Parts: sequence; C-alpha cells; structure tokens
Amino acid sequence: MILLDRVTKTYNKKGPAIERINLHVENKEFVVIVGQSGAGKSTLLKLLTREEKPTSGKIIVGGIDYERLRDRDIPYLRRKIGTVFQDFKLLPNKTVFENIAFALEIVGMGNREIRHTVPKVIDLVGLKGKEDNYPNELSGGERQRVAIARAVVRQPKILIADEPTGNLDPKHAWDVIRVLEKVNKHGTTVLLTTHNMDIVNKLKRRVVTIRDGKVVGDRASAGYNKQVV
Ligand code: ADP
Repeated sequence: MILLDRVTKTYNKKGPAIERINLHVENKEFVVIVGQSGAGKSTLLKLLTREEKPTSGKIIVGGIDYERLRDRDIPYLRRKIGTVFQDFKLLPNKTVFENIAFALEIVGMGNREIRHTVPKVIDLVGLKGKEDNYPNELSGGERQRVAIARAVVRQPKILIADEPTGNLDPKHAWDVIRVLEKVNKHGTTVLLTTHNMDIVNKLKRRVVTIRDGKVVGDRASAGYNKQVV
C-alpha cells in the first residue's frame, strides 16, 4: 500500500513542485499518472523512491513510514520498488542476460539461482531467444522490456514506470504496456506516468491527474470498478 498524506515538496523559492498531495494506492493496483511537463509527476515518484525528501507531509509505503527511515534502510526500500525510465539505462557492454543478472549479483545472489531466475523474467517480458544480444542489437521496445525485466527480477512490490514509452513508436509502446499489465497481473503494484493519451484511454485503469503540483483528478476508467474517493 502507498499512502501520501498532505505531501508537499518545495525545491526552491519558486513555490512547491507538489503541494498537499493525498494519494492512496492499494496493493496490486495499476495507476496511470498524467499531467503536463512540470506538473510534478517525477517529483512524486522521486519521493516514493526516496531520491527526494518531502518538505512536509507523511509517506508510508508497504508499512514503512518514511519519517522513520534511516539512511541504511534505503537499499532495502529500493529493493521493494523497481524503476524504469524513458531512456532504458541498460549497460551497453552487457548482454540481455547479463543486464538482468547484474541486478541479482549486486544483492549477492549466487550463480545457480541467477541462472534459474533470469530466464523466467526473460520469458515474462517476451524476449526468449534474445538472451545473448547486446542492447544496441535490440529495438527500443525490446530494450525497454529488458529494463522492465531487470526492474522486476528481484520481485519488487511496486514497479514505477516513468514515461517508459516516451521514446517508442505506438506498436512498441503497446508491447511495453502489455508487459506492464502482465507484471501487474503477477501481483506487482504499477505506477505509470505517460503523455500518451491513447494509452491512457485504452488502458482502462485508474487515472490520477496532476496539475501544478496538485491532484486535480482521480478517476476509474470504464471497466475498472474501484471506488473513487
Ligand atoms: P514532471 O515530472 O511532471 O514534468 P517535475 O516533478 O519534474 O514535473 O517538476 C515539477 C516542478 O518542480 C517543475 O517546476 C520543476 O522545474 C521543478 N523541479 C523538479 N526537480 C527540481 C529540482 N531538482 N530542483 C529544482 N526544481 C525542480
């Protein structure tokens, strides 16, 4: 569960980037966050990953109250939250397999378990047969699916996808969205930001709209039956 209670973040004198935001996301929800450039979407996500601290307000994620979070707890928190971004951030000198395996190596997983675990996520994102390819041998959509595989291989509770389709043509964008839906179906909470209104309209998921740092809309799309508060 993600809870933001009257969260404000002010970077400088220009005024708050987000202001008194209340947001409640249940486990396993899929939430689309929309808003124009500068609305405060990235700030909101950075508060969740603890790249930024709020100026005021309360944040609780998966039972962790961020006010009580010590610096040494942050790596543990980040294992619960996978992230993918518009620009993929893959390691160019590593293959698809190695890029994903690396996320497990750095948390100390042994080779045997890595060899067992990585193929499962490669399968999940539909990249079987591409294990030995390097990022520059893949399409943009495939690269983003590697990034998703790497983000979910440690089985985070939450996946944050910040404009993951921003660099992709419509077909590849939808391939990526379908993978996010699959990840969500496996029980991961997904927070997606996008500018793509076609995706927003067709996805039929909860849409939270942010404008000037405030939540100005929170609606369930047709076919999605969560009560909106
Ligand atoms: P979005 O992701 O919706 O484009 P951002 O969260 O990046 O919006 O930005 C919200 C506001 O906060 C903007 O006015 C932006 O200029 C400002 N902002 C974002 N990051 C910083 C920062 N590190 N320092 C100062 N201002 C920032």
